[in-house]
Parts: sequence; C-alpha cells; structure tokens
Amino acid sequence: NPAQDKYHPIKHACWGKDEPTPYMALSKTFQHIEEISARLKIQSILSNFFRSVIVLSPNDLLMCVYLCLNKLAPAYEGMELGIGENVLMKAVCQSTGKSMKEVKAETQEKGDLGIVAEGCRTNQRMMFTPPPLTVGSVFKKLTEIAKMTGHSSMAKKAEKIQSMFVACKHSEARYLIRSLGGKLRIGLAEQSVLTSLGHAVVLTPPCQKEYPPEVLDASKTMSSEALKEKMDESALIIKTAYCELPTYNVIIPKLLEVDVTELPKYCHITPGIPLKPMLAHPTKGIGEVMKRFDNAEFTCEYKYDGERAQIHLLENGQINIYSRNQENNTTKYPDIIARMPKVLNEGVKSCIIDTESVAWDQEKKQILPFQVLTTRKRKDVEANDIKVQVCVYAFDLLYLNGESLVRQPFKKRRALLRSSFKEIEGEFVFAKAKTSSDTDEISEFLEESIQGNCEGLMVKTLEVDATYEIAKRSHNWLKLKKDYLEGVGDTLDLVVIGGFHGSGKRTGKYGGFLLACYDEENEEYQSICKAGTGFSDDDLAKHNEFFKPHIIEKPKAYYRFGESVRPDHWFDAVQVWEVRAADLSISPVHKASVGIVDPVKGISLRFPRFLRIRDDKKPEEATSAQQVAQFYNSQEQIKNQTSDNKVNE
Ligand code: ATP
Repeated sequence: NPAQDKYHPIKHACWGKDEPTPYMALSKTFQHIEEISARLKIQSILSNFFRSVIVLSPNDLLMCVYLCLNKLAPAYEGMELGIGENVLMKAVCQSTGKSMKEVKAETQEKGDLGIVAEGCRTNQRMMFTPPPLTVGSVFKKLTEIAKMTGHSSMAKKAEKIQSMFVACKHSEARYLIRSLGGKLRIGLAEQSVLTSLGHAVVLTPPCQKEYPPEVLDASKTMSSEALKEKMDESALIIKTAYCELPTYNVIIPKLLEVDVTELPKYCHITPGIPLKPMLAHPTKGIGEVMKRFDNAEFTCEYKYDGERAQIHLLENGQINIYSRNQENNTTKYPDIIARMPKVLNEGVKSCIIDTESVAWDQEKKQILPFQVLTTRKRKDVEANDIKVQVCVYAFDLLYLNGESLVRQPFKKRRALLRSSFKEIEGEFVFAKAKTSSDTDEISEFLEESIQGNCEGLMVKTLEVDATYEIAKRSHNWLKLKKDYLEGVGDTLDLVVIGGFHGSGKRTGKYGGFLLACYDEENEEYQSICKAGTGFSDDDLAKHNEFFKPHIIEKPKAYYRFGESVRPDHWFDAVQVWEVRAADLSISPVHKASVGIVDPVKGISLRFPRFLRIRDDKKPEEATSAQQVAQFYNSQEQIKNQTSDNKVNE
C-alpha cells in the first residue's frame, strides 16, 4: 500500500470507474489496518482507500464510512448489529458442512470466530461461484438483518448471513463475521476515520467532475507543507461538523458536493439531530475547584442523579428526546413530551435544551434515588402505564429559534434558558444554582445537594472560557462529589468479565469479580481489579444468578489480563458496575491503559468497592482506558503538588 503522495486512486485500485466498490477492497484495507498500529499509517491507508472510492464510485463512500465504524445508521435510528456468536457459528457450519463441535473447538483455540470463518472459506471448493460481494450488497444485507425482528427472524437472519458467507473470499469472511458480531477489532477509532476523510477530500477533491492527472497526484500541485496544512485543516473542519451534526447521512453527501471549506455552511446544529453532550472533569475538593478557576467567575449547580435528556423542539412543533449516547428516547418519555408545551414561553419556535430527568416522588415532593429511575426501563410506554414519575431539571440551552448558542458564554445561555421556559414544580425546573466564591458557602451548598438526593455539584465557568464544548470532557465543567473527595475523585464504570468462587459465608456463590475498563481504540476490555467488597448478601445472590447464563468457556480474544488473575469463570461482557476506589497504581498484573502510562504495565484500582449496577451504560460505554490514565495522572499531579508544598513548608 503506497504512501499518500505515491498513491494513485485509479491505478492502485482493484476496481474500475463506475463499478461498485468490491467488498474485497474494503476487507483488504481492514486487513492492512489490523496488521499495523501506527496511527498515521492507518490514516494514510484509509484515506487512500477513500480516495479511490471518491473517484471510482462516490455513491459508495457513505456505506464505506459506516462499515469502517461498524455502524449502519446514526445512533438515534437504533439500528444495531451484534448477532450472538451461536447464530454466527450455525451459519458458518451450515455453509461449510463443518460440525458445531469442530467450529466451537477451533474458535476456542484461535480465540476469534472471524479467523475460523476465513479458514473455512479458504478451504472450501464450490460447485459454482457466487458473484463477488460488493460494499453495496453487504451493507444492504446487514441493514436488512439489523431490521429483522420477531420470532422467526433468527432463521431468516441465518439465511441472509449464509447467502453472503458463501460468496466470501480471503479475509472477507473474517470481517463479515466480525461486523455481524458487532466488533470489528482492527484498532480503527472514529477520530481516525474522520481524519482520513479529511485527508482524502483534499488529496482528491470529490466535487471535481473530471480528474486531470495533476489532481490525482496532488503532490505535484502543492508543496508538501502547504498540502499537509490543508489536510489538517480539512480534518478539523470535518470533525467540527461531525460534532455539531453527528450524522454521516448529511455530511458525506455534502462533502461529495461542495468544497470541504464550505461544509460549516451546511453542517451545523439542527434540531432533530442529537449532539454529543459536554461532560465534566472530576475534582477532589473545593480547593482544587478554586485553584482551577482561579480568577474566573463560576457558578455551582446541583448535580442531579438521573438520566441525561437532550430535548429538541423542531420548527414543526415536534418534540424529541435523546439520551447521552444520542439514542432516541422520545417514546420512553411521553410524560415529558406532553408537558413541554406548558413550559415553553411564547416566541420559542425551536430549541435544544440540556436536562437531567430525575425520578420524583409526587406525594413527598422530593427527588428519588437513581435506582428508582432505572426501574423505568421500557423504551415504548403509554403515558397511563408510567409508574415512576420524573421531573426534568434543565441546565443549558444550546439552540434557540434558528440560532446555535454553543459559542455563547454560559451566563448568556442560562439567562436565555430562564427567559424561554416556565417552571412547574415536579415537572420542569431549572437546576438549582448558587454563584459564590466563598468556600464555606460552596461547602454548605454541596452538603445541601447531597441531602436533596443529588450526587454533588457541577461547577461551571460563567463568562470566560464558558462556551458549550460539544462532545468534550471539559475543564469548564468540574464535578464535585462528596463521597469521593478523598479517593480517586470520581467513581469508575467497569465491566464485569469474570467471577471467583467464594469461600466461608460466600461458598456456593461468587465471592469476587474481575472488572475491566474499555479501550476504545483497540476495542478490548482490559482488566483493572478484582472486586470483593461493597456487596450485600442480596447483591451477591443476584449477581450469581445474573451471570450464570453469561458464563463462557474461554476469555474472549478481546479480553486483556495478566495470567495471575484468571477467574474461575469467565463472563461475556454484558454488565457495567459503578465502583469506588481508594486510588490507582501501576500494576504488574492488570492491563488497564497499558501502553498509555507505562509501555508494558497496566493500572489497577486499590480497594475497589461495588456501588451499583449501571444499567444505563453499555459495556462499550464503560470508563475508557484513556480516562483511567487521566485519573492516574491527575492523582500523581496532586501527589506531587502535596509533596512540593511539604518541601516548601
Ligand atoms: P457519572 O458517572 O457521574 O454519571 P458521567 O461520566 O456519566 O459520570 P459526568 O461528566 O460525570 O458524566 O457528569 C455529567 C453528567 O451529570 C451529565 O451527563 C448529566 O447527566 C448529569 N448532570 C446532572 N446535573 C447536571 C447539571 N446541573 N449540569 C450538567 N450535568 C448534570
């Protein structure tokens, strides 16, 4: 695969102009990416592939991008793959004549059904050869599979999988099976896909109708420095556009139509398309908050313990609610939808507000704990069937009447929020706030928030550095949680990947569990600690029952752990737990954040304690390896600061 400046999008491609992109071309690209780990090289390989697609079959670009991300549509459309391994194994057996036993044994040995599937296809002779797979045909079938629901859907899904599988050649089977299973595992992060797109559209501008030779070889027209600058600028434009309008369905067609520098004109915040929310940084106490915000004006708000709800009012009057992960929760909250017209002030035609929906006791007029809210699970519910009432606590306004407010300071956004809505007790209320720089007052307010069933405070800048930073864990928002002030500063959300048999009082049940964080880049779970405290007897009994059907014979290929922490039973990664810890340390056995803080050692938690199950988070949304490294580093900084102070004293 030649470097970007040597790559010729037509000559180096394995298909011709106006021909559909072969799935083989994409699989080969995946294979190259999987074989290397250097990010720049990965971006160069992918941008070369995108350039060929742009020149030869531009209408396939959107599907190629989705397949690289192992998605079929934006999150709010709720279309997901993730077919169970047994169904995939059956499909492999039925298409190859192998027995289930053989396929299972081989998968255990190789640790990856994708590789096994590839091996089966390579060794198989066919009576007649099915037509080669194309990106278009695979995408269409995957979409059909994802849409199938109901009783008989399993058999139909298996049929469709087989029809693709028999046409697979070389590594196509590996990636097809992995895509179907929901994990591509080639080490390709979304940010790299966006960067590669940015590079591709500069090197091979898509709006070109004809491609003269000098366009196909951009290095001839520009000095490499100017070119590099343009490529970086383009990547940034696309990333910003994606933050504001996180849907490739709009961005990619626009990119094919206009110059990348024009993209911001067309891709901006739009009601009806959920934004990735701004998140907060943990802190360990009021002292740290004061230090970070030094001279900046800031305000404190209650940190409500519920579910984030981004509420969109569209020009046509439609109201949609999205989760923190851009899932469409509109049908989950018919009660909120019904009350919105009552709380909107006149003149508000369209808006996006950031809120927390919190379980509410109507009789006692008080907030109920998060656990109560998690019992309200149904995604599609009639208003009359709702058992857990919620109150909406509004804390930000991101868009109002055709205008984006994210670049305005929080002071202005909050004033507009308050003048655009009315409060109704127990239904829609503004987040309780206090603006003070007096540490005693803040400390009292923190105490008050905990008494009121909140998690603590969110401390936010008001004027300077106070924009809404989409998709960022920003330093402009600091979270202050009472219980954790002495510990890590925040809890971690970890995935349970194994169980250890208990002894004594815990005989016959699991007495401890192996927990892991999630490394987004390598798509793997990395062990971080063994947890054995914080459980009531009831918790342990429940966990024991829950994990029974999720026991797997061998660890998944995407579990990373040290040999000395092998649990008695491995579990499928299905549940996230919130865990508190005393601190983090470098570990010779655990593998969390390996390669980030230390080249070979991971990070582990000391004195981990189970707090609760986080049903609202999927395993991939657990605390990331990057976050673990940040926790570790900030703790080291604090330690150094304290020892510096001691030296000074
Ligand atoms: P946690 O485990 O505490 O939920 P998190 O990673 O999910 O952590 P954080 O960045 O810690 O999210 O905190 C931001 C979350 O706090 C928001 O996603 C929102 O749901 C919630 N929240 C509650 N009250 C507020 C508030 N006043 N302002 C902003 N966010 C708030």
